[in-house]
Amino acid sequence: MYKDIIIIGGGASGLAAAVSAKKTAPELSVTVLERCDRVGKKLLATGNGRCNLSNRDISPEKYHGSVDAVKIIRAELSGEEMFGLMGVMTYADSQGRVYPHSESAATILNALRQRCEELGVELLCGADYNVTSIQPGDRGAVVSCKAGALSCAGLITAAGGYASPQHGTDGTVIKLLRDLGYKTAKICPAVAPLKTDPSLLKGLKGVRLKGRISAVSGDQLLRTEEGEIQFTESTVSGICVFDLAYLYQQYEGRLTLRADLLPEMTLGQLTDYLFSMRKRKSSLPLEELATGLFAKNPAVYLVKRAIGRPMTEAISTVTDKELRSLASLIKKAEFPVTGCAPWQSAQATCGGIHGSCIDGELRSRLHRSVFLCGEAVDVVGDCGGYNLQWAWSSGTAAGRNCASQVKGGAK
Ligand SMILES: Cc1cc2nc3c(=O)[nH]c(=O)nc-3n(C[C@H](O)[C@H](O)[C@H](O)COP(=O)(O)OP(=O)(O)OC[C@H]3O[C@@H](n4cnc5c(N)ncnc54)[C@H](O)[C@@H]3O)c2cc1C
Repeated sequence: MYKDIIIIGGGASGLAAAVSAKKTAPELSVTVLERCDRVGKKLLATGNGRCNLSNRDISPEKYHGSVDAVKIIRAELSGEEMFGLMGVMTYADSQGRVYPHSESAATILNALRQRCEELGVELLCGADYNVTSIQPGDRGAVVSCKAGALSCAGLITAAGGYASPQHGTDGTVIKLLRDLGYKTAKICPAVAPLKTDPSLLKGLKGVRLKGRISAVSGDQLLRTEEGEIQFTESTVSGICVFDLAYLYQQYEGRLTLRADLLPEMTLGQLTDYLFSMRKRKSSLPLEELATGLFAKNPAVYLVKRAIGRPMTEAISTVTDKELRSLASLIKKAEFPVTGCAPWQSAQATCGGIHGSCIDGELRSRLHRSVFLCGEAVDVVGDCGGYNLQWAWSSGTAAGRNCASQVKGGAK
């Protein structure tokens, strides 16, 4: 069976690519192959079902990887503009995060599906369309799946990365491309919790604290974020941690999270406060020492970790040194990173097909008829709508460029 353009993957970037290809060249046949029973399954889960589809602050610090993502994004419509043209009302919150006015990810998926239908994009979904091999040739490519072999003049790989395999993405196409000689940047979960030594988290499970968290490697301060820090029995989590997770790729085995759990106070102010509490609460047990600052569980955790004595002893017995060490722990609680959370709890993939394998038009440098877009490429954005914006922009560019090339070749 022959199609002019085949797109592997009916996720965010694949649907954007399909719309863009068909708009560029309506006369070409454009087919999306999606291994799940319907397109856009992951999209429905984005932004906790609200779909944080973009961010108004697109800047280079928000993107990581070997591709100049911002250059590609700035050359395309923003998510707001793109969906605005489809009749979708959006709004941005105080941090620039863009959502559909309906606060429902289904609005975004519906808009894309309707646009595909209007334009005549063919969507083939289900296990029969799970692509298991790619054979790029001189003037096109052949992809194979249970339904058979399909040949095309232009192939767009939009099959995502490894994150969230429950939504159909397990890195298959990255592996197929790697087997064809594509270079990959080291792959690890991103926009994800980070693992630490569980013994450091005893007593913190379920605790959420507003604070400042930094990623450090030795003496090097890599990045600092503020927000709600969440603890489980083995991970440190929360959006502020998600935004640091990509650093694991480069600093594996050398990465530490350092939390300032009371950014409102300087170390000096906090030390003075603790000295005054020793006087005021002298007859109370140690477990009450920090309860004026934190809820009971984190307060007890911090005193135990800093002072390490039975919590029943009187606050009056605390030495100056112990008070200083408690103040220092509150300002600099360290959690060495021992690993990444599993792919199931990651929202994105750090690494993927290296930027050196594609040109500025997202065309493969190895095979002229192949274009790449979305999470499969070595680009990862921060939490806040950046990853979907990359998916829309890279998909749109890949779709347009592939269609122009196929159209030009057909003349
Ligand atoms: C829970 C969750 C919440 C998120 N929330 C946000 C958010 O609010 N804002 C944001 O910016 N980002 C968010 N993200 C990230 C965002 O969803 C992704 O960056 C984006 O979907 C990537 O788009 P993509 O098209 O590259 O890949 P995907 O959307 O993952 O689509 C790839 C598609 O390819 C299909 N596929 C894979 N292999 C094959 C194959 N061999 N054959 C056929 N089909 C195949 C998959 O089934 C899938 O449908 C979230 C991610 C998760 C998991």
